[in-house]
Amino acid sequence: MDAWLIGVPAAATLAGAAIAFGAANPRSQMFGGTIFHTAAPDQLAITFDDGPNPAITPKLLDLLSRYDAKATFFLIGRFVRECPALTKEIAEHGHVLANHTETHPNLFWLTQSAVSDEMQRCQGALQAATGDGAKYFRPPWGFRNPWVIRTASELGMQTVMWTLLPGDWRARSTEWLTERMRPIARRAERSAAGQAGDVLCLHDGAHRALGGDRSHTIKALEYWLPRWRDLGLKFVTISQAVKLPAR
Ligand SMILES: [Zn+2]
Repeated sequence: MDAWLIGVPAAATLAGAAIAFGAANPRSQMFGGTIFHTAAPDQLAITFDDGPNPAITPKLLDLLSRYDAKATFFLIGRFVRECPALTKEIAEHGHVLANHTETHPNLFWLTQSAVSDEMQRCQGALQAATGDGAKYFRPPWGFRNPWVIRTASELGMQTVMWTLLPGDWRARSTEWLTERMRPIARRAERSAAGQAGDVLCLHDGAHRALGGDRSHTIKALEYWLPRWRDLGLKFVTISQAVKLPAR
């Protein structure tokens, strides 16, 4: 256990709950400012975690191209090292590449130097594949501690969370996942000026190994992309989404 946790009195269950909230809640700003929405209600930032994945990412690139949709890919460094050509291809399609650590650990339990090492190794993999490091970072499972966001910032990255996490990694059917993604359309129908837009978190890979099956994710997007477009949503990268400062 790290020193900052020992400082929490054992009896203070509320403090424990607050820390759990701050560590995992996508909107919590307890451990530092994060980006978790876009600047306008008609801007939808679609993001993909846990790739690159040769079994899924190429199909996804084709699908996104069909709708001229740009997205943000939070890549795992060790997969980038195994698939440098695919990594480069994602960038060449106009998508933003972002950092999702080297090995996908739960950062909550790691020391600051271990957190920094995970981030830097992924930056190194991205640099080797494309010539550039990432400007955006997403912690595995969204877990943060007091130094995750600060360390990302010291390495030149803003931390990105989400407004909607449909749970595509546990989808048993495309219908189930399609329903779980319906809040995006509901909010787009009701949106008013001055509101923020959604950051959708999906997965084109599985963090344990290359080749994870995310075909429900592709099929649910095949359903939603034309409908979202018809509702007036614009598909933006995180770089395009943060014209306003993070709050
Ligand atoms: Zn992940």
